[in-house]
Amino acid sequence: MLQVSRVTIRFDDTPALDGASLTVADQSIHALMGPSGSGKSTMLRAIAGLEDPDAGEIAWDGRSVLGVPVHKRGFGLMFQDYALFPHRNVAGNVAFGLRMQREDSATIRRRVNEVLELVGLPGYGDRSVGTLSGGERQRVALARTLAPHPRLVLLDEPLGALDRSLREHLLVEMRSIFNQVDATVLYVTHDREEAFTIADRVAIIRDGRIVADDTPEDLWRRPPDGWTARFIGLENLCTASRLTELGVQPPRGTATTGVIPPEAITLSPTGSHTATVTGSHFRGGAYRVELGLGEGSTLVTWSPTGLEPDAVARFDIDTARISWFED
Ligand code: ADP
Repeated sequence: MLQVSRVTIRFDDTPALDGASLTVADQSIHALMGPSGSGKSTMLRAIAGLEDPDAGEIAWDGRSVLGVPVHKRGFGLMFQDYALFPHRNVAGNVAFGLRMQREDSATIRRRVNEVLELVGLPGYGDRSVGTLSGGERQRVALARTLAPHPRLVLLDEPLGALDRSLREHLLVEMRSIFNQVDATVLYVTHDREEAFTIADRVAIIRDGRIVADDTPEDLWRRPPDGWTARFIGLENLCTASRLTELGVQPPRGTATTGVIPPEAITLSPTGSHTATVTGSHFRGGAYRVELGLGEGSTLVTWSPTGLEPDAVARFDIDTARISWFED
């Protein structure tokens, strides 16, 4: 188990990490998600041993790893640019970590073939890396990271350079590979879909602090605050007074904002609320519908069929699915 406790790292007196804490459980995939500049890479570099904390503790199974050099932490690293060695063939790249561990050549050969099989590149050992596609290079980089059996796999935007359809495909495949080898993984990304697709839990980092850490489903259902709700892509943030106008009573006196997940809004000819359709756009599979409530405020929901602009739509709200917070 990885435990990062209250870690602070400053660059020129400005904290990149500001008392950040994070626990990654064994055999789990944990995403670390935040906007650009929020401290994600700094966190990963500190865990890897490439950056020394000014304060705080980083431990594996209760033992501090601070002061332990990068190659002795037993962590595997994979970055966006893969950094494959261009003059070595695929096998030579995958064998790199095993050679550093001074494994014998028969063990190295066996393990290289095993991981190439695992990442879907059996028989690729003799290929030159220059002849590979982007997706294949990414798999080689993954094989190289996994070959020495790292106790923790650290990935920094590993799919950032690939196009969308390939990214989606590889994400699902990576998740299955990690599960097959019972890997413990910390996956850094700024992309919500990537984090939600691959991770068992998602930690959200903002200005060097972890502000939320939950399963993707619970983050979506119960975001802790408005910033997190917006960052993960929830749209229907409404003031308590707007919701009161819609007949929804805030549950306690201090809640100022409620967020209605789009799936809690059902369009229905007998719905108890009315709105004007201000937008209806096909997004593949369903239409994203905007419902104008007046004074510029809108709610967003999804519909299997398109709606006419300016039509009056009726809808119901499943009020039990609204999450509330002070914002
Ligand atoms: P992210 O990975 O979320 O984009 P980073 O961890 O790279 O964020 O950076 C967090 C903050 O720390 C940023 O403001 C960045 O400019 C600053 N920073 C990161 N590394 C250095 C460095 N080596 N020297 C000075 N400032 C840095």
